[in-house]
Amino acid sequence: MLKLPVCPHCHAVYSYKEVSEMKQGERFCYHCKKKYRVDKITGSLIFISAVCIVLVCLNLFLFCTNENINMILLILLNLSVVTSAVLILPLTVRFKAEKIKKAEKRRLKK
Ligand SMILES: [Zn+2]
Repeated sequence: MLKLPVCPHCHAVYSYKEVSEMKQGERFCYHCKKKYRVDKITGSLIFISAVCIVLVCLNLFLFCTNENINMILLILLNLSVVTSAVLILPLTVRFKAEKIKKAEKRRLKK
């Protein structure tokens, strides 16, 4: 699930930087010129909820196993998990093949 998205038509590869700067919506592939839809929401929602569950479990576990837990250490640990989650976020972006509408097809033929 966690990998950079590729063009659904020609499997052209996009760089991490390109993907992280992409916005939700329609785009044309730089390689095959076909249309696809950038879906940032579905993947990131699943990923963020998974990270939240992991963080809650991790904190509960640390609180239960260590009686004199260091608050600063705990905050640092949480921050590092959140930072790595933000860095991984572009890997949850997916490209979906977009059907070209009839009107556009006609225009492309001309
Ligand atoms: Zn392509």
